[in-house]
Amino acid sequence: MAKLDLENKKEMLIARFTSNGTLKSEQVIRAFRKVPRKEFIPPSQIKLAYNDTPLTIGKGQTISAPHMCIIMCELLDLQIGEKVLEIGAGSGYHAALCAEIVAPLESENPGHVYTIERIPELVELAKANLEKAGYSERVTVILGDGTEGYKEKAPYDKILVTAAGPKIPQPLKNQFAIGGRLVIPVGNLHFYQNLMIVDRVSEKKFKKQNYGGVAFVPLIGKYGYSPK
Ligand code: SAM
Repeated sequence: MAKLDLENKKEMLIARFTSNGTLKSEQVIRAFRKVPRKEFIPPSQIKLAYNDTPLTIGKGQTISAPHMCIIMCELLDLQIGEKVLEIGAGSGYHAALCAEIVAPLESENPGHVYTIERIPELVELAKANLEKAGYSERVTVILGDGTEGYKEKAPYDKILVTAAGPKIPQPLKNQFAIGGRLVIPVGNLHFYQNLMIVDRVSEKKFKKQNYGGVAFVPLIGKYGYSPK
């Protein structure tokens, strides 16, 4: 598909998401416009880059639908300079969106995104995609069990989890800053789950809100679901 067609489809999606209230803030609109989703999906599916649907990326995993990435970025209220931890790197696209907000190229005080993935082949995929799209300096991809967090760089200003667990993993609650926010789908192994927003009010106090129903692949690990 010609480049112009994809650009047109992206602008149509932006117009739809802006008018229905999914896209709210300037920084998320800017990031969605700037990060090339086509670099994060298999070449055979490029024409679907700006369809509002999840797409397969191999190893039984998916890149989330554009509206879901946008909702999570809006809920996280990301700001320039913040340190972000993502659990579930997948294709690397959502990490790039976050990086475009917390670490835009012109920023004097750039933040950073750390993203963990449990499947080695997807770690390689995410690294290659981020390199192609120009985000490899702003995003660090780590192989591991994200339910244990990544305490080497904690505390984080924001944590996002892009797979659904049975409960909020305790290590993640320990690893975000007071005043920070965690966004995570929690619920049944097989659809649907609730997207939970957790604010850390003090060392021991957390305020939870439920955004509503979502459908994510399982979070598999020590503090998630067991592997089959
Ligand atoms: N954020 C991704 C993107 O932009 O393409 C999409 C993520 S996909 C919906 C969920 C990912 O979470 C999968 O790649 C899966 O392998 C990964 N995952 C599941 N459990 C995990 C865990 N404990 N630690 C790290 N990654 C995990």
